[in-house]
Amino acid sequence: MTMTENITLPTNTAQPDRAAEVQCTGIIKSFADGTVALRKVDLHCPSGAITVLLGPSGCGKTTLLRCIAGLETPTEGDIRLGDRDITQSDPRRRGVAMVFQNYGLYPNKTAFGNIEYPLRRARVPKDERRERVARVAELLRITHLLDRKPVQLSGGQKQRVGIGRALVREPAVLVMDEPLSSLDAELRVSMRNELRALQRKLGTTMVYVTHDQTEALGLADQLVVLRDGRIEQSGNPEEVFAYPASTFVAGFLGAMNLLDAQPLGLPPGTIGIRPEDLVPGHSAGALTLTGPVIDTDLTGTERIVHFRCGQQTVRMRVRAGDLVPTDITVHAPADRIHRFDLEGNRIGVRR
Ligand code: ATP
Repeated sequence: MTMTENITLPTNTAQPDRAAEVQCTGIIKSFADGTVALRKVDLHCPSGAITVLLGPSGCGKTTLLRCIAGLETPTEGDIRLGDRDITQSDPRRRGVAMVFQNYGLYPNKTAFGNIEYPLRRARVPKDERRERVARVAELLRITHLLDRKPVQLSGGQKQRVGIGRALVREPAVLVMDEPLSSLDAELRVSMRNELRALQRKLGTTMVYVTHDQTEALGLADQLVVLRDGRIEQSGNPEEVFAYPASTFVAGFLGAMNLLDAQPLGLPPGTIGIRPEDLVPGHSAGALTLTGPVIDTDLTGTERIVHFRCGQQTVRMRVRAGDLVPTDITVHAPADRIHRFDLEGNRIGVRR
């Protein structure tokens, strides 16, 4: 059962509000041991939108999120929430609430006590606390669980309590660090849809960290790909997917085939072709790839076929029931070929 069944969708009632946009400028973060996690990051998170930070382990996603939430202080640069400079402000007073990967619940408190806690710390009067917890619990459909301790809750329920504890503060910005990664695959998908519905309903500015490309593409209004402490590319997810700015983004998002161009009779550099864009057979004038099949992976309705093309391995997708020959010949329509220079930067169409 998912929450989306109960929420009228989509009801983005919030107007774009400058007070809830986040602007990070020139953020550098180095730690005491000399590790530089962020190397001059400029990031704009529009009000009322979901910005997803995507990238491999260690690229600086969590550090950037923690800087926005106030759990880390940037070594250089500043962070603004609307017109306010919040770089140095108290995490509890900056209008940003964080949801953690491991829920971060107090084991001795009930769900009610966990959600209520930030309001107690802020000395909100008791009646108002009860009212606000009740409202958030209803929104998250956990009213019936409020008396339970975390140990009596499932992973998905714990995560709802964690989200409730963040929402009860009525933050301008909600930041989430891989909040669904501890859940099983099916629950992840339904929780992802719920989160998006909830965000649309509340109009809260959201910054969401993941290293899961499917989650990123499914959630993002703005997708930001990080690499080694820098922003490699940002834009709407369709654009980033269609026009990856570098071989790094192309390989990370959608697992594109990245092939050395020269052995294929093309100018030096790299060409990228998505496995689903390869078409069986020759076609006059099109780039043709041919060679023996070396492996296949069944993914469910599809099968990924790996074949050798000279010294390189190419992946293509076929339907699961299709007969896989021992040798493959495919071509890549010209408009499906992405070209990158020797540094790995996109050549040609770039949005
Ligand atoms: P993951 O997906 O694995 O969580 P991430 O992209 O969120 O990775 P960060 O946690 O932001 O990456 O870490 C970025 C870099 O900073 C890594 O090299 C990490 O080891 C380092 N780092 C993070 N926190 C500290 C710290 N407190 N002291 C020293 N180095 C740190």
